Amino acid sequence: AKKMGRNRFCWYQSEMEQQQLEKFNLMMRLRLAVKQQLFSVLYQPVYDIKTNTVFGAEALLRWTDSELGVIAPDVFIPLAEEIGLIQELGLFVLQQACGQAVAWQNSGYALRIAVNISVMQCKQGDLPALIRQVLQETGLAAHALELELTESVLIDDTALVKQQIQQLSALGVHFAIDDFGTGYSNLGYLSQFQLSSLKIDRSFVSRISHDDKDLALVKGIIQLASSLGLHTVAEGVEDQQSLELLQQAGCHYAQGYLWSKAVSPKEFESLLTQ
Ligand code: C2E
Ligand code: CA
Ligand code: CA
Ligand code: CA
Repeated sequence: AKKMGRNRFCWYQSEMEQQQLEKFNLMMRLRLAVKQQLFSVLYQPVYDIKTNTVFGAEALLRWTDSELGVIAPDVFIPLAEEIGLIQELGLFVLQQACGQAVAWQNSGYALRIAVNISVMQCKQGDLPALIRQVLQETGLAAHALELELTESVLIDDTALVKQQIQQLSALGVHFAIDDFGTGYSNLGYLSQFQLSSLKIDRSFVSRISHDDKDLALVKGIIQLASSLGLHTVAEGVEDQQSLELLQQAGCHYAQGYLWSKAVSPKEFESLLTQ
């Protein structure tokens, strides 16, 4: 505060202070939201692009705050990690997603359910026990579950992560590398872990119908994956031409607004019966 004249004060709030204040407010709301269970899980269909049928679903967490409205997961997930709430939120998503997959199974749709796992959930070291418990509680078969890890998880804390992946793979749980290509240039980890698929990041996929270099890159990733015995999932497919290019390049699976955004279980069911 700066003194102006006799009794007049003028407050200068720097942009940084304001950002800190906003972040603090968001943290408070996030804590409250966890207590009040203001979260839900939406499902984006993943298509087998050879048969053009729904192969699975990716569970995506949503937070609609009563005061702040919809907050994007890109914003609140890192915050939840920072203040130690990701464990609780992560467990919620796993329970919801596995329960939903069983419900779909019971209606005659055998889908693979993909769940995002944060770095922090792997660092605890108790992921195998947690997953086993959720599978038991919900009755989902391990092979119907795919856990999506980012490259950074496989770079840090390698021994602990490797051990957990081994235990879960032995159960039949699948692993995918999320946002492939955005993180690291060292690809050594690809042969070190038991993985099922690579998810090609939207930043590469979105321009393949306009940009020859991006197309070459995506083709290269598909070839690399296939030579390692991994499936590829293209993220963020928004137009028919991109789909055709991916089919020609031998990509197995894809998701994106071309088919559907993430939707409620009910809306998902209408996609299944289409
Ligand atoms: P992600 O795992 O890479 O998820 C894909 C994101 O791309 C989702 O955003 C999805 O809605 C969006 N998307 C899908 N298809 C298209 C498309 O055709 N065009 C465009 N423009 N976008 C598309 P969302 O749901 O906002 O999630 C953002 C990120 O937040 C996720 O990226 C993931 O890293 C994180 N996240 C979301 N749910 C969870 C969760 O349950 N646990 C953890 N740890 N992270 C989560
Ligand atoms: Ca993902
Ligand atoms: Ca991704
Ligand atoms: Ca992402």
